[in-house]
Amino acid sequence: MSQFDLVVIGGGPGGYEAAIRAAQLGFKVACIEKRVHKGKPSLGGTCLNVGCIPSKALLDSSHHYEDTLHGLDVHGISVENVQLDLAKLLARKDKVVDNLTGGVAQLLKGNGIEWLQGTGKLLAGKKVEFTPLDGSEAQVLEPKYVILATGSVPVNIPVAKVDEDLIVDSTGALEFQEVPKRLGVIGAGVIGLELGSVWRRLGAEVVVFEALDSFLPMADKALSKEYQKILTKQGLDIRIGAKVSGTEINNGQVTVQYNQAGEDKTEAFDKLIVCVGRKAYAEGLLAEDSGIKLTERGLVEVNDQCLTSVEGVYAIGDLVRGPMLAHKAMEEGVMAVERIHGHAAQVNYDTIISVIYTHPEAAWVGLTEEQAKEKGHEVKTGQFPFAVNGRALAANESQGFVKFVADAKTDRLLGMHVIGPGASDIVHQGMIALEFVSSVEDLQLMTFAHPTYSEVVHEAALAVDGRAIHAIQRKRK
Ligand code: FAD
Ligand code: NAD
Repeated sequence: MSQFDLVVIGGGPGGYEAAIRAAQLGFKVACIEKRVHKGKPSLGGTCLNVGCIPSKALLDSSHHYEDTLHGLDVHGISVENVQLDLAKLLARKDKVVDNLTGGVAQLLKGNGIEWLQGTGKLLAGKKVEFTPLDGSEAQVLEPKYVILATGSVPVNIPVAKVDEDLIVDSTGALEFQEVPKRLGVIGAGVIGLELGSVWRRLGAEVVVFEALDSFLPMADKALSKEYQKILTKQGLDIRIGAKVSGTEINNGQVTVQYNQAGEDKTEAFDKLIVCVGRKAYAEGLLAEDSGIKLTERGLVEVNDQCLTSVEGVYAIGDLVRGPMLAHKAMEEGVMAVERIHGHAAQVNYDTIISVIYTHPEAAWVGLTEEQAKEKGHEVKTGQFPFAVNGRALAANESQGFVKFVADAKTDRLLGMHVIGPGASDIVHQGMIALEFVSSVEDLQLMTFAHPTYSEVVHEAALAVDGRAIHAIQRKRK
């Protein structure tokens, strides 16, 4: 086997982007990936195979279905005899996944990167043991640099053991062959809300159990309050402060035992999704004498530049601290390679966007009002609804708002929070503004095209100083 400058272990979004950037910079690169998806070795990690992409394919298809059933009448369009072909819907999702994972394989090939199909293990002295999927003999590689990018797996809880039949994790919830009549979801986090929404739109009665006493505590309070109201109105039955204490399988159904407000209750479902978080995956990755330090939570310990405790070995993505998001993994992969090459690259962890791809979408970047206050800022905020935006009304997409959080003394923008049409894209305006350390006034002075959803961004910036035009403002400047 030829000598490599860089070996990347893990071919998810973090690993494959790192490999590509390294090849662009002239490194000789190998990417070790062990995943077999639906019988075929596959690149793209959790994100492309069983995460971001298949879940978004299902979210889009199920939105079309729901909109056809309930969203066209208002436009004067009536449809009859709407049929759901679930097998076709799932096959389309699989095709999108195949297309993208195949595309990554092409990209690696086109960049001269060797995809080693099998398992990688870091040994002492920065060596890497590669055990091929085909059962052939393991080999030891001696690269100059290593990037660990082995991602994460779902957290299991003993009270609801995944059996891949009635009780599933997020992967199983992408594959139901019929729409469950009653679906239980443990965890009102990102996966619970996205996949709960998919199956609700397709016809399931969905109950979401959340152990905490508040809904989406990491989001801005104004956003989480409005968002919970919207999702509940859509029919997601979100039970806050509901602690699941056990599950039982009876007559092809799963009974959930839980406690809410001091009362013990039970409820039966056709399927149960367990989505209570994910944990770093380093199983079999590190020889005892590899020199890599792990945190108490099993994450690989890294510094700001993703360098581990071993010189020349980096770790990125879900395997290390920070949010478990594909775009965060990608940027860390590129940063690590740029650092190896001697560039002063840096990821700005303060501007990593969060999105929940329901309809409407919820998205945010920077500080919430509560966080800004905790950090000692004197805070001013501005909020503007989509309900009076011409484009939103024309499209019948008028739920939600844009909210800005800013420092009252300096006018510096601190955060942006959006629920509404195209929130996942609109929020990038806030991300760019934060990156450029914009003031609220910078946004107020810009000209936004009419009629667009983005006019709500302009109005929310104006509202910070009581200057929104399409609202009666009590505070004025
Ligand atoms: P991964 O994508 O997990 O890739 C790691 C790869 O390493 C895996 O393919 C694994 O097989 C391989 N591997 C592990 N150990 C070894 C080894 N020893 N040798 C060789 N290979 C190994 N994030 C978003 O930003 N947006 C979304 O919309 C979104 N939706 C999601 C929906 C779902 C249902 C789920 C589960 C996750 C979602 N995520 C989303 C999270 C996102 O998928 C992860 O943050 C992202 O995939 C992390 O990338 P990574 O490269 O660190 O790891
Ligand atoms: P999460 O951390 O978003 O939510 C888990 C929820 O489960 C939390 O609200 C938690 O309080 C609750 N919980 C934990 N234990 C519980 C219990 N025993 N009973 C009831 N509730 C319990 O985790 P997730 O939804 O599993 O998603 C995992 C990761 O995947 C997230 O970190 C997220 O970043 C990533 N992801 C991102 C996207 C996206 O960006 N759109 C989509 C899906 C997943």
